[in-house]
Amino acid sequence: MTAFAIPHALVVATQWLIAYGVVLWLAVAWSVLHDAMRRSSQYWFYALAVILGLFPPFLGAVIYWIIRPASTTAELETQELEKAMLREAGGPQCPTCHSAAREEFLLCPVCRTRLARACRSCTKPVAVDWKVCPYCETPVEELGSKKDSAAGTV
Ligand SMILES: [Zn+2]
Ligand SMILES: [Zn+2]
Repeated sequence: MTAFAIPHALVVATQWLIAYGVVLWLAVAWSVLHDAMRRSSQYWFYALAVILGLFPPFLGAVIYWIIRPASTTAELETQELEKAMLREAGGPQCPTCHSAAREEFLLCPVCRTRLARACRSCTKPVAVDWKVCPYCETPVEELGSKKDSAAGTV
């Protein structure tokens, strides 16, 4: 009686398959760690990524992809930089449509939101919440409520 002999080719194929799986497993764990390093600067997070990248094999990586931070640190830095550039280079903005404005604008040229009023006596722009014209000391209350240039009959 001959024992059930596994063909040699099948043994070799199985060994290759196992080796392939191990390499893939380590590659997934490495990519998970690499991804974690792009998304965090916390060492405990790296450790968590390594553990999840290895155990349970492959499933841990899926769990990591679910719980990982949505943005990379580079993306977060870019977003912060864009906001800072808007604040600095953009200067004043329309509070309604956020298009670029200038200090001397009375209305937003895009959406017509009132940005400032013209001073009655010196015609310089006075911000809506100012109480007095800083150029000529005319109290803003005397300018009237919404009129740009009151007739001067206060
Ligand atoms: Zn606007
Ligand atoms: Zn004035």
